[in-house]
Order: sequence, then C-alpha cells, then structure tokens
Amino acid sequence: MVVAIDGPAGVGKSTVAHWVADTFDFFNLNSGAFYRAMAVKVLDAGVNARDENDVITAAESAELDIIGGRLYLDGIDVEDRLRTDQVDQWSSIISTIIPVRHIVNRHLRRIAGTISLVAEGRDMTTVVFPDAEVKIYLEADPLVRARRRFQQGTSSRSLEEIENSIRERDHRDRNKKEGSLLIAADAVVLDTSTLTLAQVYEKVSGLINSYL
Ligand code: C5P
Repeated sequence: MVVAIDGPAGVGKSTVAHWVADTFDFFNLNSGAFYRAMAVKVLDAGVNARDENDVITAAESAELDIIGGRLYLDGIDVEDRLRTDQVDQWSSIISTIIPVRHIVNRHLRRIAGTISLVAEGRDMTTVVFPDAEVKIYLEADPLVRARRRFQQGTSSRSLEEIENSIRERDHRDRNKKEGSLLIAADAVVLDTSTLTLAQVYEKVSGLINSYL
C-alpha cells in the first residue's frame, strides 16, 4: 500500500509522514531528502548549481540508499548534512532540472519496491506514485510555515528571510516544467494553518484505517 503526501516547503509533511509510517510500520520515503542529497553531491563536486550539464553528470553518478532510516550518498551517511540553508536553496534549484528529477524518481521507485510506504514530497501523488491508495495534500500560509521553521532554531536566518526563501521555493515548486506542485484530483486537502499536526495525523491515520 502507498500513502502519498504532497505539499509546499515547511508544511509539516515530514513530521506527519514519520508518525504515520511509525504507527502502521510502513517505510518512510522522504523524496525531498533525495533532492537534498543530490545538492550535497553537487556541492562536494564543486559544481555550480546553475550549470545544468555538470549538475546532471554529478547526479547520474550519485549512489543513493537508505540504511537504518538514514540516507547514504556514495556509501557515506549524509543525513546530518541535508538541512542547512545552502542545501535548502541548492536542492530547490537543481530540482527544476528535468533529468535530475528522472534520476531521483528512479531511485525512489527502486527503493520503494513493493513494500508498504508513506512517500512525501511535491509530486508523489501526481507523478511518482499516481496509483497511491491514499493521497493527501497539505497546505498552510507561507508566514505560518516560516514561523515554524524559525522556531525550529535550525536556521541562522531571520523570520523575514525565511519567509522570503519559502515564497521563492513555492514559486519554483509551482512553476517546474515537470513535477510541479499540484493538487491531485483525488487527493484529500488538509490545511495545517488551522489544524495542528496531531489533528492532521489523526485524519491521515483515519483515511489509512478506512482503506485497510
Ligand atoms: O521537502 P524538502 O524541502 O526537503 O525538499 C527539498 C527540495 O526538493 C525542495 O526545494 C523541493 O523543491 C524539492 N523537491 C521536489 N520534488 C519532490 C520533493 C522535493 O522538487 N518530490
């Protein structure tokens, strides 16, 4: 069974996906982490994120795997390098490159195999797992999302800078030539500005239970 969750940056997808995967003992597939690992690959290779051909060459040679719930790039655990401001920005830029999306999608489908999973990202409900049994779209006001990110204390930026960066990433996400952020016709839409993440978790769990 596949539970697919999409939505913009900072909407709470990862938290909800993690809880749900834990509860139902499903594999948790965080597709954003794969774009982030690709950004680390590009950074380490000394390639400019806007130099498409070099980015594609670096992405093609990246070996990605999940071992014990942590993401490995070329055999090295990179989980602790994925959430920096620079990786936020670079992953957003390189994820607009269509061949990079195809490479990431291949990795995602290979790792997903035939197991039950919760997959989250921007195009899980529309492109990568269009036949998912449960589809959710999470949304929230950009300022609410920026406040949450600011309160996490993992960024060195001001609230205003974070909000601007979120708006910039939203714009890129919604204007990708492929894999852009869309609400699938058969997705259940939940607004996390008015619901707590615990309430969202309850609703998603309810949808899974009614399917099971
Ligand atoms: O979800 P997260 O913020 O970790 O994603 C990192 C970057 O990867 C985002 O900027 C987003 O644009 C991109 N992404 C994507 N498609 C996905 C998941 C993430 O383009 N399915």
